[in-house]
Amino acid sequence: MLELPVGRYVMYLRKSRADEERERNGEFETLGKHERELSAMCRRMAVPVEMPPLRELVSGESIAARPRFQELMEMVQARELAGVVVHAVDRLGRGDMMEYGYILSAFQFTRTLIVTPGKVYDPADPIDLQQLQLQMFFANTEMTGIKRRMREGKDQAVRDGQFIAAHAPLGYDKVRDARGMKTLAPNEWAAWARRAFEWTADPATSMSEISRRLKAAGVPGQWDPQRVKVLIRNPAYKGMVSWNVRVTKIKGRDGMTIEKCHAKGDEPILADGLHPAIVDDELWDAANRRLKAGESHAKRSAPLRNPLAGILRCAKCGRAMVYAKSDPRRTGRCYEYVRHPLNRACTCPPAPLSLLVGLVSESLESAALECEVAAESGEDPAKALETEREGVESAIAKASAKVERLVELYVSGGMDAPEYVERRRDMDARIAEMRARLDELAQERPEPPEAVAMRLKDIMRALRDDDVPPSDKNALLRAMVERIDYANDADGRGNPQVAITIHMRR
Ligand SMILES: [Zn+2]
Repeated sequence: MLELPVGRYVMYLRKSRADEERERNGEFETLGKHERELSAMCRRMAVPVEMPPLRELVSGESIAARPRFQELMEMVQARELAGVVVHAVDRLGRGDMMEYGYILSAFQFTRTLIVTPGKVYDPADPIDLQQLQLQMFFANTEMTGIKRRMREGKDQAVRDGQFIAAHAPLGYDKVRDARGMKTLAPNEWAAWARRAFEWTADPATSMSEISRRLKAAGVPGQWDPQRVKVLIRNPAYKGMVSWNVRVTKIKGRDGMTIEKCHAKGDEPILADGLHPAIVDDELWDAANRRLKAGESHAKRSAPLRNPLAGILRCAKCGRAMVYAKSDPRRTGRCYEYVRHPLNRACTCPPAPLSLLVGLVSESLESAALECEVAAESGEDPAKALETEREGVESAIAKASAKVERLVELYVSGGMDAPEYVERRRDMDARIAEMRARLDELAQERPEPPEAVAMRLKDIMRALRDDDVPPSDKNALLRAMVERIDYANDADGRGNPQVAITIHMRR
């Protein structure tokens, strides 16, 4: 038998999807059974495994949704463990290849053993590594089959009109009907959901106003225009059920991180629900027509989501910061942020988009205030420009007079040829420089400070208005702002310390 290295060994317990299916069919409690089997194995093999084991109680899909596994990976990456004891290799992953790649390389680089009842794997050994990869691959294909069966079951439930989503929409409770079918029953908030539809159907009421009213009435939920739109788009309110409208996709980036993004599912299902409608078809359609009208306007101009696109740049290297969205399944909520483009030479911590938009609009507000103060104190950039132009013109006239005197001196024999040529060349160069500056000044059209202040305030107001599409905000900003330099000295705990420098167009 393999001589196991000394060090810490921990046991990690997690159910597989197949275990969960078996448990639903009335079989034993899986984790307890695995713990007993693995403890017996450790005693047999004299593995000094630590107790209690890390028990995963939730059945999260991603690493972030499995807190015990995160603890385990932290210990592995900190090189604290000699080995991890698991029931089967596939317990370390949850069925996606990108995740397996990341997990295996962590075990490989730290030489952490994987101890299973069948075999002890050393990921630093090429043959063991290949076996681990194969094991994980087959677990993955098995996983795909289980997922497909579950999805088919769900599809059928939706076609039957059952409501199977995790959370009931506002105004409904999840219930089971007399036949045991999953459905919805209206509750005390149904009237407010209906009001949200009536307000949305009226184009005179802004989406921010609607979210403000819902908030003021104490309607449960974090109301903002985006969430009101999600409510209005939900076909459950007209008595329908939907499924597969959005699916999660896994995207690989630089081989080590896993990014999930939402994409349209291939076959969305929309069926008559078993539950009663809160609004009729006409009202639902009217409210959704209003949302579509707003959207098509935004999409025609540009499908931008980031008002700072192309403007916000890294202060160190000048690369444009990239817009990104957090995965709501990992972070629990969906928030937008900006990050440095992937680059070896330069990097900079990310920051929430809302924080940056807030900083920019605050800076524009104080710049507008400065312009107003300048206007009140009678500062006029047009006048300043005129003064400079007059100054340059008179300097040119004086220099030309000197050239004339120089010519006179030379012609009258008071100066020899080499000296004349040298002094004449210097003076001609100075005059050419001043004429160039005069041409520059002729190009400048300074705006009065009160006009600048007004434009700055327009941009500031647009940035703060949730109903203005990001593409319009971007166009307004670009008209006045050349670029915004971004720097972030985040502290170790990830709190952003953002500094921005706004460079206005001249
Ligand atoms: Zn940079």
